[in-house]
Amino acid sequence: MRRKLVAGNWKMNGTSAALDQVEKLKSDHTNPSIDIVLCPPATLLHKMMHSIGNAPIFAGGQDCHADVSGAHTGDVSAEMLADCGASYVIVGHSERRTDHRETNDQVRIKTKAAWRANLKAIVCIGETLEQREAANTLDIIVGQLAGSIPDNATGENLVVAYEPVWAIGTGKVPGLDDIGEVHDLIRTRLERRFGSGVGRSVRLLYGGSVKASNAGDIFDVSNVDGALVGGASLKADDFSPIINALQ
Ligand code: PEP
Repeated sequence: MRRKLVAGNWKMNGTSAALDQVEKLKSDHTNPSIDIVLCPPATLLHKMMHSIGNAPIFAGGQDCHADVSGAHTGDVSAEMLADCGASYVIVGHSERRTDHRETNDQVRIKTKAAWRANLKAIVCIGETLEQREAANTLDIIVGQLAGSIPDNATGENLVVAYEPVWAIGTGKVPGLDDIGEVHDLIRTRLERRFGSGVGRSVRLLYGGSVKASNAGDIFDVSNVDGALVGGASLKADDFSPIINALQ
């Protein structure tokens, strides 16, 4: 039985004042039956851990460098995230793949770095609009999945987020059948590569314009174990109903 998960990606948003949202989430979800993960900017991680205290909420990074330490100005290692109290890290988000030209190879190496630091990696994959319109979605997903995930994946250390690039921050969402088709494909490929036990235990999230009004329908789709939420995770009043839709 896979434990459901909702992760909020704050992206490059939030200063200390945003931690009020953590206080609100804590009072909204004192005993959640699912995993709740907040991924703030790295600058907020340490303070966020203080805000979370003993509450049943996990924190995560939004990216990590492949190395433990060294001459990489501006970067943050998986070990540094773990040292701040993170338990998860997002790798291969489409904004990293686009803005920083991250390739599947780099995402795979970062995922290994996350595991080295005992972080759970949320590996993002997803097609662009151009690729969808050219009917290449499934091929793209298969290629990204094979290239971005190292050997030794388990249900404990890996979460896969399917995030169509064209659905991120646009208010557009694929049809429920389309989401189901991709999630079923990801599940089948994970089972084929890692064996059915591991393949069935990895959690699969959908991401891209999830909000309170569509979350329930998306969570009913087969092989959707939760969501990676961007914009709607910034305010507890928007994020809490999404969490409630999954419980
Ligand atoms: C994201 O950035 O991972 C995301 C899903 O964003 P949004 O929910 O705003 O579409």
